[in-house]
Amino acid sequence: MRLLVVEDDPDLNRQIVAALEDAGYAVDRAFDGEEGHFLGDTEPYDAVVLDIGLPKMDGISVLEAWRRDGKAMPVLILTARDRWSDKVQGFDAGADDYVPKPFHMEEILARIRALLRRASGHASSELLCGPVRLDTRSGRVTVDGAGVKLTSHEYRLLSYLMHHQGRVVSRTELVEHLYDQDFDRDSNTIEVFVGRLRKKLGVEVIQTVRGLGYLLSADPA
Ligand code: CA
Repeated sequence: MRLLVVEDDPDLNRQIVAALEDAGYAVDRAFDGEEGHFLGDTEPYDAVVLDIGLPKMDGISVLEAWRRDGKAMPVLILTARDRWSDKVQGFDAGADDYVPKPFHMEEILARIRALLRRASGHASSELLCGPVRLDTRSGRVTVDGAGVKLTSHEYRLLSYLMHHQGRVVSRTELVEHLYDQDFDRDSNTIEVFVGRLRKKLGVEVIQTVRGLGYLLSADPA
């Protein structure tokens, strides 16, 4: 899952990005509204954390512009405390959720998890596919109840496939949703990661669909 953080306070931006990266997401960052708008307009994010008070272009205008252009990714807005008008304007502009400042990072993480699973049609924070279970809260993966240790890239890959199980996900889509914009994408091919992940899981849940991509399914092909 790939996220965008748009926050002009450098310390806060860094803290949010670090917490999200620790939680296993690929994260891009922007420090003003114009840069944030451009990234959200051109890159396929799974969710966005968007501050309302931003230089160059305020968060409400950024959000309105995205929605006007048909960008449907979930957006969590950061509002100033006691500014109820921020919340109303934010929801009217197309926000999916909000967190007032100051906040606990855990709340951001929990709300992002909820937005991501809702966007992909899941109600529970535990994702299941046959014997494979992924707990999005703890980042724990088990197969038939036994823990499986994954690298952050493998976890990100499995999490993306689990969120989108039952449909074919192309390699291009995986590349776009697993890596942040600064990552050297050529150095690590998706095929290699899928191979490693299959080996670690030890069960046949990731099918290769020739010419199209991968399909995560509990039903054998
Ligand atoms: Ca701000």
